[in-house]
Amino acid sequence: MPGHRLPTDTDDGMLLIISGPSGVGKTTITRAVERAIPGSVFSVSVTTRDMTPADVDGVDYRFLSDLEFDRMVAAGELLEWANVFGKKYGTPRPWVEEQLRRGRLVILEIDVQGAMQVKGRMPAALALFVLPPDEATLLERLRSRRREAEGVILRRFAEAQREIALARSSGVYDAWITNDNLDRAVAEAVGLVNRARGRSP
Ligand code: 5GP
Repeated sequence: MPGHRLPTDTDDGMLLIISGPSGVGKTTITRAVERAIPGSVFSVSVTTRDMTPADVDGVDYRFLSDLEFDRMVAAGELLEWANVFGKKYGTPRPWVEEQLRRGRLVILEIDVQGAMQVKGRMPAALALFVLPPDEATLLERLRSRRREAEGVILRRFAEAQREIALARSSGVYDAWITNDNLDRAVAEAVGLVNRARGRSP
């Protein structure tokens, strides 16, 4: 029943935005934060990009046709959406609103364009940006994934640099987390969330 509250529901629903360039370990951090914070839920985005063998439909993304995606945009069903690498990505609005009503911490792993839209509508959202320790490490991580040809890797590297520059100039992010060590980065993110929710770490 929509709007029905569960016994485990609390009153302090909050939106957590996690952004960062590809190759920075953002997804690993996001999923670790989700595991570390009781009552947190990961928002499964819709996308028109192709599914890869690493993706589970309905868990990592919901994969849609362009037509289905455009229908959701027209119906106002997306909280935000953006074009990333020529494909569309968006956050389903009704699900997020329902989880917030239930007092959940709702985690959005979205790009800078999406973060700007969400912060514009919901300024209380906590927005974190994950940075690589340095450029050489980022390039090394993009290479070690061995998913792509060198030309594609260099393009992703240039895109990552642009994403970081855009993030800095956007004024949207509340904190910057350097992923020099996974456990430390996750602890920092969890600490920032607890502080924002008015809880001791
Ligand atoms: P990938 O295709 O590598 O999983 O994601 C590409 C980029 O799209 C990442 O920067 C990711 O954070 C971003 N992204 C994923 N879902 C969404 C979404 O729902 N909205 C927006 N604006 N960006 C998203």
